[in-house]
Amino acid sequence: MSTPSPSAVLDRIRAHLVALKMPCAIEALDGLVRRFEQGQLSPFELIEALLAEERILRENRRVKMALLTARLTTLKTLEGFDFSFQPSLDRNRILSLAQLQFIERREVVHFLGPPGTGKSHLALALGLEAVKRGKSVYFTTLAELVTSLAKAEREGQLRERIRFYTRNALLIIDEIGYLPLQSGGANLFFQLVNARYERGALILTSNRGFGEWAEIFGDQVVASALLDRLLHHAIVIAIEGNSYRLREHAQLVPEQVRAMPLRMPSPEPAAKRRRGRPPKENLAIHAG
Ligand code: ADP
Ligand code: MG
Repeated sequence: MSTPSPSAVLDRIRAHLVALKMPCAIEALDGLVRRFEQGQLSPFELIEALLAEERILRENRRVKMALLTARLTTLKTLEGFDFSFQPSLDRNRILSLAQLQFIERREVVHFLGPPGTGKSHLALALGLEAVKRGKSVYFTTLAELVTSLAKAEREGQLRERIRFYTRNALLIIDEIGYLPLQSGGANLFFQLVNARYERGALILTSNRGFGEWAEIFGDQVVASALLDRLLHHAIVIAIEGNSYRLREHAQLVPEQVRAMPLRMPSPEPAAKRRRGRPPKENLAIHAG
């Protein structure tokens, strides 16, 4: 029996790749074969490179789809974060969060600080890291979340909607305290927090101190109950710097707008009974 010619074998390889739907590998094949013929690659290296091409494509496609599902459509990375601009921020603490053990431990990460200090950026970047590692993530703002829960409640679908928000390993809730909540909003948010409590990780961002939660949620009792759960197993990252958005125009913004200290007492009920890392009592959070 005669051995098939190399070009016949290559045709068969190409046919296999077509049948297996491996377009990247097909595209890379000729170049890799050329490098093999020139002695730049061993047969094993050729096979490895061929599979790697396809695998990278698939991985990129998976991440792209997962980012859409997670609603992480604004791409922010930790590499793109300028830590030197935010000296109050402990770089190593953020990099250690990027190891994602907080998701395994179902902890709550709070990013607190004035507008423009990178809270959303860091939340999105950690979301991206989680998606890359195959974790399920969902990103929303508090306003969107409450609107969606209120709609579901009106339609008799609240339980299903809460289940929807509890099924991801990481839920990111951005912009707590930016907009006044609609009536009943605090109660709906509490139901969600309660449903996720110790079942899944959260990242929350806010420009308001915990002491202002009664004001944000319009009710001291609900605010205490929320903080009780959200500060148990919590990691609080407070950023005390200037706005990155305004970095070139800071001198045009009146000082009292740039740095308006707000009350930030420590959350008594939660801090007393629970372990975790409540914020420093004298922390100044700035309004925006
Ligand atoms: P916040 O959520 O705290 O209001 P953002 O995270 O939205 O602020 O940041 C505002 C803009 O500035 C975004 O485009 C963000 O990517 C960018 N940004 C903020 N801080 C930094 C930083 N330290 N390095 C690079 N970009 C930053
Ligand atoms: Mg933000």
